[in-house]
Amino acid sequence: MSDIKNKEQNNFSLTKYLVCSNFLSMKGGKAFLEKDKVVELEKDKIKNIYSTKEFEVIKKKNNVLDTSIIELNHHVVMPGLINTHTHLAMSLFRGLANDLSFQDWLFKYILPLEEKIVDKDFVTLGVELALFELIQNGTTTACDMYFYQKEAAKVFDKIGLRAFLGEAINNGREGWVEKVEELKEIYKNNNRINACLAPHAPYTCDDNLLSEVSGYSKINNIPLFIHVSETEQEVADSKKKYGLSPVERLDSLGLTGKNSLFVHCVHLSDNDIQILKNTKTSVSHNPESNMKLGSGRAPLSKLLEANIFVGLGTDGAASNNNLNLWGELDTAGKLHKLQDVENLSASSEALLNMVTYGAAQAIGQEDNLGSLEPGKFADIIALDINYPHLRPLENLISHLVYSASGLEVDFVMCGAKVIKYKNEIFNIDKNKIFSKVEQMQSKIKNAVNLKLES
Ligand SMILES: [Zn+2]
Repeated sequence: MSDIKNKEQNNFSLTKYLVCSNFLSMKGGKAFLEKDKVVELEKDKIKNIYSTKEFEVIKKKNNVLDTSIIELNHHVVMPGLINTHTHLAMSLFRGLANDLSFQDWLFKYILPLEEKIVDKDFVTLGVELALFELIQNGTTTACDMYFYQKEAAKVFDKIGLRAFLGEAINNGREGWVEKVEELKEIYKNNNRINACLAPHAPYTCDDNLLSEVSGYSKINNIPLFIHVSETEQEVADSKKKYGLSPVERLDSLGLTGKNSLFVHCVHLSDNDIQILKNTKTSVSHNPESNMKLGSGRAPLSKLLEANIFVGLGTDGAASNNNLNLWGELDTAGKLHKLQDVENLSASSEALLNMVTYGAAQAIGQEDNLGSLEPGKFADIIALDINYPHLRPLENLISHLVYSASGLEVDFVMCGAKVIKYKNEIFNIDKNKIFSKVEQMQSKIKNAVNLKLES
């Protein structure tokens, strides 16, 4: 009864301990399941982790109240997932332009549509819809690339998830420095909202712009996300125009380095991989988006063998068409088995690492995020194991990769604040969001018609 009392009486403000029957810390990227652990919380962090035996002693000694305990006794408790690449507001484009190649999808459809319709209200609503989905499936951190990130930040702040927000930068788009500075200033005392840089791609940013962005990232020590070598054509065009692959060109302009996360990296030469390795540049791997747009399969095994940090990302809902990292895990595993079924670089552990500790490494946050250890932020999720597709229990690690779908996530905490409990999500007005999303559809439909007419 203690958990129910807790929720009704104080809305979790007294929660100090999580009692976990199955505990997956992901410490050091290792998928090692432990039994009967208790997580102690302090402010927004994990203070300590005890065995339940140790906790019994502490309980008696310190007079621990029932209202400070949440029991997760038929669950796997693990770090909240990290989505290393997405365009959250594009959730409003879900289902549009399904059967197109990357070139047609982006240049004939998405970019003209964005030009017509994306404004502050669009981003606010799109991010609300997206965060609702992230909470459903247990993602507590998202690295986003889009416009009007100040509006996105407000939604993250209100709902309580962790954000790395990159204002999209490309040729002709003025004022990015001011926007990033403003975001930094507003959230300087808020460790959940982080300002980043997001030059869109090597083919939408010229050399001068890329050098400026790189310089700014280095001086201010700010993470940088950029789409790189997503399609064969991008690589061929780059070689023709600059005599360099996209990775070689970005390296020559100073965009490689430990602050940089290169997204997609589907078409890489061995030299490109060597550059990423030597410069400690990380990669966001987005297999479902790459499959859906027919872009190809990233050389995951080679990247992992080179000890390059790789995090999984869903990309936006316009090319996936969801923001569910459990599906992404399953797809990534099976896709790379096609390449080499015995290659351990796509093991269940390696895959889980790509949405937790390894993802944190890819965005330079391994000291704060990605595993459940004292001193780290308390970004914690729990999956209910009472589902047929998660039995037999013996093989839970494999089930997390190949069987879980996200519906099992019935507890979500970010920065020690409970956001979802027993499948109830707080701070989200479902009906309001859904009705606004339907209203927005007529606007999008009109914009699509306008585009087709012009
Ligand atoms: Zn993208």
